[in-house]
Amino acid sequence: MGETPVQSHWRSVQDHSRSFWDFTYVYPVISRRSRGLSIGMNLNPDKVCNFDCVYCEVDRAIPPKTLTLDLLKLRAELVEMIRFAQSGRLAEDPKFAEAGALTQVIRDLAFSGDGEPTMVPNFDECVQVAVEIKRLFKLPETKIVLITDAAGLDKASVRRGLELMDAHQGEVWGKLDAGTEDYYRTVNRSTVRFERILANLAATAKARPIVIQSLFFRIHGQPMPAAELSAYCGRLRDIVGAGGRIMEVHAYTIARPTPEPWATKLSPEELEATAAGIRAQTGLPVQVFA
Ligand code: SF4
Repeated sequence: MGETPVQSHWRSVQDHSRSFWDFTYVYPVISRRSRGLSIGMNLNPDKVCNFDCVYCEVDRAIPPKTLTLDLLKLRAELVEMIRFAQSGRLAEDPKFAEAGALTQVIRDLAFSGDGEPTMVPNFDECVQVAVEIKRLFKLPETKIVLITDAAGLDKASVRRGLELMDAHQGEVWGKLDAGTEDYYRTVNRSTVRFERILANLAATAKARPIVIQSLFFRIHGQPMPAAELSAYCGRLRDIVGAGGRIMEVHAYTIARPTPEPWATKLSPEELEATAAGIRAQTGLPVQVFA
């Protein structure tokens, strides 16, 4: 049977809200990058992040539901959500009206959410919960994905969590939006040094193949300058040159409203041209999500 292609205009694709029914930590989305149902695990209901990306869609003006991470509740919510998905009840929710056929196959359990997952002090325990759930529901093909800004990939509990993920269909999707410290500071507005981000990506990619996810957009009308794109490609080549493995690059642009009105999306043609430039300069596979 062929795969149902995920369409970008579907409500379940457009709406990546981390709030679903009365769940606190778990939320379902149809993800183009996951090619189907991804069950998100929001480890940061407190909305804490060590980046402050100009395109971040997390509305920090709305007070968080909770400031704590309760692993028992996370586990119970995963059980409930997977039962909803497998029983067909999720397909009945209006949000999934166009994507009902995709809701019964759980492509991945993804650490993502309203902040940076590696900022929790017990990331390894969170991975353990996901591993147990995969076992409980006999989901050997379901991936465990970490979507990260890479700032915490060198922490001991994160490294332990990554090793556990490696043994259970884990995948790391690391953010890289810049090639220079200046552009990184402009886009990601973090106090973490750019060198640390690059070193973490390289070390992680040496231990297992990773995905690089990069958002390209306009700042005050200007797309990423050509020199910056070349520097960015140089960083990718550096990772590979140091023995890192990059499975693929996910190139995407702004999809939902951002708090900074001067941060605007690229057209599909511009994004495709950017991806072509990355392919030409790095030889890496690049998938475009316009
Ligand atoms: S890393 Fe993610 S959550 Fe953090 S500011 Fe950037 S887009 Fe928002």
